[in-house]
Amino acid sequence: MYSQNPVFIPGPTNMPEVLRKAVDMPTLDHRSPLFAQILRPALAGVRKVVKSDKAEIFLFPSTGTGGWETALSNTLSPGDKVLAARNGMFSHRWIDMCRRHGLVVEVVEVPWGEGVPAARYEEILTADKGHAIKAVLATHNETATGVRSDIAAVRRALDAAGHPALLFVDGVSSIASMDFRMDEWRVDVAVTGSQKGFMLPVGLAITAFSPAAMAATAAAKLPRTFFDVRDMANSYANGGYPYTPAVGLLNALKLSTELLLSEGLDNVFARHRRIASGIRAAVGAWGLQLCARSTDLQSDTVSAIRVPEGLDANRIVAHAADKYQVAFGTGLGEVAGKVFRIGHLGSLTDVMALSGIAAAEMTMADLGLDVRLGSGVAAAQEYYRSEHASEMQAAA
Ligand SMILES: *Cc1c(COP(=O)(O)O)cnc(C)c1O
Repeated sequence: MYSQNPVFIPGPTNMPEVLRKAVDMPTLDHRSPLFAQILRPALAGVRKVVKSDKAEIFLFPSTGTGGWETALSNTLSPGDKVLAARNGMFSHRWIDMCRRHGLVVEVVEVPWGEGVPAARYEEILTADKGHAIKAVLATHNETATGVRSDIAAVRRALDAAGHPALLFVDGVSSIASMDFRMDEWRVDVAVTGSQKGFMLPVGLAITAFSPAAMAATAAAKLPRTFFDVRDMANSYANGGYPYTPAVGLLNALKLSTELLLSEGLDNVFARHRRIASGIRAAVGAWGLQLCARSTDLQSDTVSAIRVPEGLDANRIVAHAADKYQVAFGTGLGEVAGKVFRIGHLGSLTDVMALSGIAAAEMTMADLGLDVRLGSGVAAAQEYYRSEHASEMQAAA
């Protein structure tokens, strides 16, 4: 069934009409110079979005998960040690992938709702005198819990320990929506996918490799073929691909980066923060709590909302879908049944957010929760009104 409602899942996100149209292209010879006219600006645009001058960008027909595999398989060897924190379903899955690749993972268990523990990382890295740890993994935005971690602090932990490990960052639900600084934080591999902040259909793994990560590819012994960045780099040098590229998606990615950069990255991030703050005001008005344990951890792209004891949060998601044709995210892993999630990244306006808040209120009232209709909507409206008033004052 087709619904005209926006989705409120944290990916795939709502797609602007122009981007959907940009995917829809006639067949084009990907070995012709026309293709390079799509590929090169797409690569340059992504490099700007991740704020890098030095990174090499690689775009695979895949998803964010393929981006993880690209990061690991191109830089590491079987038996290599990596350091990772488990604070949600996505960091958990990345750890699982490391193990399936024969890597030895030092896992820091973190309560779900907290961020990457930079201080604990620093202790572990300082103790690793022989530099056995080859890579440090950090999930910038844990989409399962709505928690943003401080990547600059993770970089400081590496520096304080004087540790040469590579820094890999999962930015799947942050890049293009929340501030991400590849060069400033000296991230070695950044990973995302097309269907989140870039507002595109699923289908591309988007990765950025630092010079240090590129240097690590020569010695890395993990097997890779499809995801080999050296093959990609060789083909890119000639404006082509080692296999058949997803031309329509790349064309739309080129346009997506143009839209993001013309809005201005700071404006994109401020819009996400404003929309998220309105949703958080609504959650407060409902008397509910976020999964994120403190305000500095609150994500601007997804809110995981704890439901009262005794209610299965999945019922909220199922009921909203059945009765109102509105999609919210379910709880995953340890927080399954305990939280429902409102995704608020990508192509979204305050007014769209208000419709999601209203649908959540109707759903919760239907299920007998003590939520007054209009309470969250009003709180968000007040917030959006005041924010726009201050924006207009700033502009005047
Ligand atoms: C969505 C997501 C992934 C998985 O990406 P896929 O494109 O579904 O493979 C990984 N990490 C985070 C933080 C995500 O939000």
